[in-house]
Amino acid sequence: MAFIQIIEDEHLNRLAELVTTLDMYMLPNGNQWYVGTVPAWCRNCARFVLAEDFESPDEMERKVRSLYEWSEKQISQIRGSREETLSRSRELLERELETVRQWRMVMAARYSAPRCLECGGTDYEPLKGDGWLAHPAVEGQRVRARINAHASMATLGRFFDTEGRQIADKFESSESSKEEGNGDIV
Ligand SMILES: [Zn+2]
Repeated sequence: MAFIQIIEDEHLNRLAELVTTLDMYMLPNGNQWYVGTVPAWCRNCARFVLAEDFESPDEMERKVRSLYEWSEKQISQIRGSREETLSRSRELLERELETVRQWRMVMAARYSAPRCLECGGTDYEPLKGDGWLAHPAVEGQRVRARINAHASMATLGRFFDTEGRQIADKFESSESSKEEGNGDIV
């Protein structure tokens, strides 16, 4: 899931490499959800950073439901007994919809403006789109943000509260750490 966004100038010098999708929000019910990000120039940090970019709960719900419909269609083509697979799929849908409900609550209650994920400040300029943009701090220079490559999942992520404040030190982000209860790791 993680990837690197490169900020480069017109001579293709790399001004920054930003690793995205490793940071998680702690939701009110204890679940976690990915921090949506946008590359930005933070005036307080005086460098390129990732800033919060809120995901719309409606869009999130639409994605969850369309993924479920797709998987139900796949399951319906399986021959033989598929009751168990269907009920597992529905369970998964319920769990995802619960996360969407949590996120909807968080967005409705959120009072802080989106923040720079490095300093927590709100004085930044997002780099929207993938074309060339004027460098927010260097006159005459143009920059662009470009997705480069998948990053190693060994990179460290962080936890944030639902107001965008960092609440825990870096943790090791890996897909396996989110699975619980059904492995035989001691
Ligand atoms: Zn900052």
